[in-house]
Amino acid sequence: MRRHRRAKIVATVGPASDSPEMLKALLLAGVDTFRLNFSHGTQSHHAEVHAAIRALEQEVGRPIGILMDLQGPKIRVGTVRDGKLTVEAGETIRFVLSGSDGDRSAIPLPHPEIFAAVAPGHDLLIDDGRIRVRVSSLGSDFIEAKVIVGGVISNHKGVNLPGTVLDVSPLTAKDRSDLEFGLRLGVDWVALSFVQKPSDVIEARGLIGDRAGLMTKIEKPAALERIDDIIQLSDAIMVARGDLGVEIPHEDVPGRQKELVRACRLAVKPVIVATQMLDSMISAPTPTRAETSDVATAIYDGADAVMLSAESAAGRYPREAVEMMDRIIRSIEHHKMYRSIIAATQPNEEQTAPHAVATAAADLASVIHAAAIVAYTSSGTTAARVARKRPSLPILAITPSREVSRRLCLLWGAHSVLSDDVRSYEEMVERATAFALEEEFASSRDLLVVVAGIPFAQAGTTNNLRVISLP
Ligand code: PGA
Ligand code: MN
Repeated sequence: MRRHRRAKIVATVGPASDSPEMLKALLLAGVDTFRLNFSHGTQSHHAEVHAAIRALEQEVGRPIGILMDLQGPKIRVGTVRDGKLTVEAGETIRFVLSGSDGDRSAIPLPHPEIFAAVAPGHDLLIDDGRIRVRVSSLGSDFIEAKVIVGGVISNHKGVNLPGTVLDVSPLTAKDRSDLEFGLRLGVDWVALSFVQKPSDVIEARGLIGDRAGLMTKIEKPAALERIDDIIQLSDAIMVARGDLGVEIPHEDVPGRQKELVRACRLAVKPVIVATQMLDSMISAPTPTRAETSDVATAIYDGADAVMLSAESAAGRYPREAVEMMDRIIRSIEHHKMYRSIIAATQPNEEQTAPHAVATAAADLASVIHAAAIVAYTSSGTTAARVARKRPSLPILAITPSREVSRRLCLLWGAHSVLSDDVRSYEEMVERATAFALEEEFASSRDLLVVVAGIPFAQAGTTNNLRVISLP
């Protein structure tokens, strides 16, 4: 099962896709990594889906990535009388810390951290930003606010506070329980929602350790302010445009997407562009032209992966959405301007030996028209350094770690293969040759460029380059 594209596809699993048959159909249609969204569903159901994906992995004999996405400190209003309440621009409403079935003078907002952090002038956005209210005054258990944009507030609608840094851990009690559960299942990635600051990532790392890759979702303006540190502390980034587009103006999201993708390419961290990519395919078998163009833009930006949310989780056309994404990516990657656009957005080099060696591998392979670049990688870093150059040749990533082979299902251009530890240089060369032939990346008389870190067991080094000419 070899993909004929470089960028990866992440698909969220939900009621529309959680049967073993549908998971298989989506995998064959092009999914590289499945997302289990812990904002919905029970732990035991997620465990069933996890087991079905691992069974599928066995069946097809190829690694599959599994990403668990934690709900995070999502803020919601409580319950109002009759389930909904219409508010109009200009009127003053009141939120209270506790209670239920409230009216416009007592809308429950059961989050003490908000009462501790908001100040007059801050905005609260309700229901994905549809309603905007501005805080005029507050006490320890009430917030008075003027409605700027009116609408209907119904029970449990989400609340965003773009201008307020809340004193909350990115991990709620539910997240902590889900996290432990997911790590025990053996997920490959953990995504953290609503990260605000670098210490949020450090706190999560303390719990995750190296049991899974840590992905930070960028969906708060506060996170953008500390983005370089957050990227350094994370193993991967998601441009979470759903909540980000509520918290910052719509028109600022595309520019932020470009900045984030570039910063991640510079830092050698995989980056996913997510949310509403083929949104209309939730209910229609084809996307809008604008959606097609949105997926294309992420590919031209050089994103490692693009993601489907409700399209694959709850829509009517999950398989068609994956097929469409696959077709768009392949078309863009074959477009005559693709290489020059990717090269133009290439971030500057880091002046270190491992980067220079990876860059040299990519350049060398293209000069000699090698069939593939073989990256021998124990932690995945050597493969990521090569991928960072976005070379035009396939990257065959050979690793002795099953976990790494799965995590690489998110990395641009990497086709990962699991192999036993090699003991010697000659053994590595033999393996590289055998895998390149077996996985049909090369045939007789082709050239291969092999890049590795030696000694093999030492993760993080990239210091060796070798040209092999196949018999
Ligand atoms: P969500 O995250 O789907 O969990 O909300 C992604 C986003 O906000 O874009
Ligand atoms: Mn979100």
